[in-house]
Amino acid sequence: MCLKTVFTRHLLDLRLVFSTMPTIRNAELLSIGTELLLGEIVDTNSAWLATQLAERSVDVFWSQRVGDNLERIVHAITQALERSDMLVVCGGLGPTDDDMTREAIASVLDESLIVNPTLEHELRERFSRFARHMPEQNLKQAWLIPSAEALANPLGTAPGWLVRTNRAGRERFIIALPGPPRELKRMWQQEVLPRLTLPESTFYVRQYKTQEIGESGVAEALQDLTKARNPTVATYARRDGVHIRVAAKAESEAEARDLAAPAERAVEERLKPHIWGTDEDELAPLVIEMLKVKGKSLASFEAASGGRLSKTLSDVPNANSVYRGGVVAWSTGTMQALGVPSAEQMRPGNATREMTIAMAKAACHLFGSELGIATNIPGHGAVSQQGDDQALIALEICEESVVKELSLPHADQPWRRERLTYAALFLLWRQLQ
Ligand code: ATP
Ligand code: MG
Repeated sequence: MCLKTVFTRHLLDLRLVFSTMPTIRNAELLSIGTELLLGEIVDTNSAWLATQLAERSVDVFWSQRVGDNLERIVHAITQALERSDMLVVCGGLGPTDDDMTREAIASVLDESLIVNPTLEHELRERFSRFARHMPEQNLKQAWLIPSAEALANPLGTAPGWLVRTNRAGRERFIIALPGPPRELKRMWQQEVLPRLTLPESTFYVRQYKTQEIGESGVAEALQDLTKARNPTVATYARRDGVHIRVAAKAESEAEARDLAAPAERAVEERLKPHIWGTDEDELAPLVIEMLKVKGKSLASFEAASGGRLSKTLSDVPNANSVYRGGVVAWSTGTMQALGVPSAEQMRPGNATREMTIAMAKAACHLFGSELGIATNIPGHGAVSQQGDDQALIALEICEESVVKELSLPHADQPWRRERLTYAALFLLWRQLQ
């Protein structure tokens, strides 16, 4: 590979050879960096790019990670050009020897890397603006090849590349983006998207969110729907319950929506008792909103959820107008001081249930709220923090108690607390309907 300097003018002339931009129907992602293979950093860039492409109806059939090894990067790029309209490469645009994205693209296309005077000027300017000496090593960030157009990067030193080439009689694109997510996202949105022609078709997506049903239960209820290809119906186990995603693709948004409608109706009918929200909905903000609408206030008394419920509720902006506060306690002495009778004072056999109701009532009393919610685990006397997989939630609304008993799979404490928190929020959500 030879290195020589030519004038920008020459590069511009070369670019004029290309005709109008064809529509990109499918894309492939390639993240570069040995640290990704070692698990030292998580490849969030390709997850973000994948959602960007899915939103625009561009199919992604391959996504891979390759270490800082020229031969393997060259192999991955060569393969991608054979099978995909567009390859988006991220990372490896830095100034050091292990940043090899430019070298790899030049090698695959058999083109020479040339220091571009405009890019060199901008790079030197950037260093002098920050009163820093520019190591000569950095000059590789001013490299271009004849098929590449530089993409501006005001957030960093590495410009990106938009490369146009041909394989098997079709035009192909390689987009090279810097690894730092902030730089990558800006470049994709501001520099890449305006230059691409993406499919006319539109993607319609609706997400349903459920509680009190497991993923296998949902899968069973939707068995016939999950086999279809357009619309697709898929299930995902998430922190706040099982989500169901209905997606359809068509020429226009209205058509995609119509295509998805029967599947949406089926999901709504079959899972009605479990669906608490759609798309961006979150349980805690929904509960806070319902409390505001009904003019009711809430307080909590937590043992089993260890404060997680209180945090989740109080994280909602302006929650304090309806959420009065909460206590976290499980020692017998503290419980009694807060007005919860001891287990000995309860009816045998029903002690935990009664104690949980007493905790919910105590929350109402302590904070002067109309609603009180409590989380507890079975135990005698002092409620143990450890071990049990059974949990109870009591909700006290205007002298009426609702108790929910649930079995949590044996797992670590934070996970159990989170599950319990969402179950408590769901109970609140349902009772506030
Ligand atoms: P630099 O000029 O910073 O070296 P670069 O384009 O060469 O940029 P990399 O060296 O591959 O990019 O990565 C720089 C940093 O960007 C990484 O240390 C990491 O923090 C982040 N990063 C890189 N790739 C990814 C990725 N796929 N997902 C998330 N973060 C990433
Ligand atoms: Mg780097």
